[in-house]
Amino acid sequence: MTRLRVYDDTRALFHLPDGVIYLDGNSLGALPLGVAERVNRVITTEWGNELIRAWNTAGWYSQPRHVGDRIARLIGAEAGSVMVGDTLSLKVYQALAAALDMNASRKAILSDTGNFPTDLYMAEGLIATLGRGHQLRLVAPEEIEAALSEEIAVLYITEVDYRTGRRHDMAKLTAKAHALGIVTVWDLAHSAGALPVDLAGCGVDFAAGCTYKYINAGPGAPAFLYVSPRHANVARAALSGWMGHAKPFAFELGYAAAGGVERMRVGTPPVLAMAALEASLDIWDRVDIKEVRARSLALGDLLIAEVERRCPSLEVVTPRAHERRGSQVSFAFDGGYAAMQALIARGLIGDFRAPDIMRFGITPLYIGESEIMRAAEIIEEVIAGEVWLRPEYQVVNAVT
Ligand SMILES: *Cc1c(COP(=O)(O)O)cnc(C)c1O
Repeated sequence: MTRLRVYDDTRALFHLPDGVIYLDGNSLGALPLGVAERVNRVITTEWGNELIRAWNTAGWYSQPRHVGDRIARLIGAEAGSVMVGDTLSLKVYQALAAALDMNASRKAILSDTGNFPTDLYMAEGLIATLGRGHQLRLVAPEEIEAALSEEIAVLYITEVDYRTGRRHDMAKLTAKAHALGIVTVWDLAHSAGALPVDLAGCGVDFAAGCTYKYINAGPGAPAFLYVSPRHANVARAALSGWMGHAKPFAFELGYAAAGGVERMRVGTPPVLAMAALEASLDIWDRVDIKEVRARSLALGDLLIAEVERRCPSLEVVTPRAHERRGSQVSFAFDGGYAAMQALIARGLIGDFRAPDIMRFGITPLYIGESEIMRAAEIIEEVIAGEVWLRPEYQVVNAVT
């Protein structure tokens, strides 16, 4: 397999509409050209001709584990430790349930106020379902380290903050948590495909992430769950569906968990969505995530410098230190929502997160220096020219 140079070889492997500069791959990655052909092949030859036989003949049944192994490479996970399926909301629920179970005498879950709300909502739902008096403790992201103590059962955080792009130190926090007997659950939503992650090296217990952001597998693409091999045969699968059973096709009346991460499967996998994910991984298999990271940091530095120079009213909220940021650049601006609508109308697609954050995702597989320079020009036109004050940009859509 020949290596692909990031951007120089990979840009042509994506479809992007003419006239669009796409800085929102942190929310929904761009479309790899190989997806349509791959999904079409699965529909016509596998589903169409093989029908039910395809579960065996086309490998549909074992696909969630095989695809998991391809993702494992991107996140520094051991082979056989990643399972694909469901949504990230469900995968963090499963991980948190298993982690709490491993630390049953403790009642506190520690997270931060920068976490993505669904992670927090799923924790609340799990706490109510368990009914054992657990509590969710939220502190500011900078206070996480100091808040680790022997009262905490699980450290439950997202490595890169979806609003600001601030990055936690996974190695340091995991080591400190372990020294205090705390089990760790890391959300990699804004890490997988964005920067090198070393789950095995950091000794992380559980991790989960999605594939429709930086991995480019398409809207609604399945999520993944990592379980450290240390725990894979003992972790309790809270969502004990038939596909995670030791012998699903024995149709036994009682549940018995499969060995290893296989127990984290729930029900029938989304085969068509999985085909799109496989096509996106055909690119990832051939690029070096370290090269992606180096380019992302350089492009992020360029965007920060150009926007600061042209638009002093935009406040950079992303940490400047390379090791403390992910792969997005965010600016705080009071008219952020309207300004983003004006940018989108001019072909620069980023997004807005309440209350005042304008986000720009940096995805070096299909974004290079010329796109960043053009983006800075459009931002200057909208902000310095006060274009965002026009009434048509003040209308708020359902999805921001
Ligand atoms: C994007 C994101 C999610 C989304 O969850 P879904 O179940 O895929 O909708 C969850 N957590 C974090 C941290 C995210 O950034």
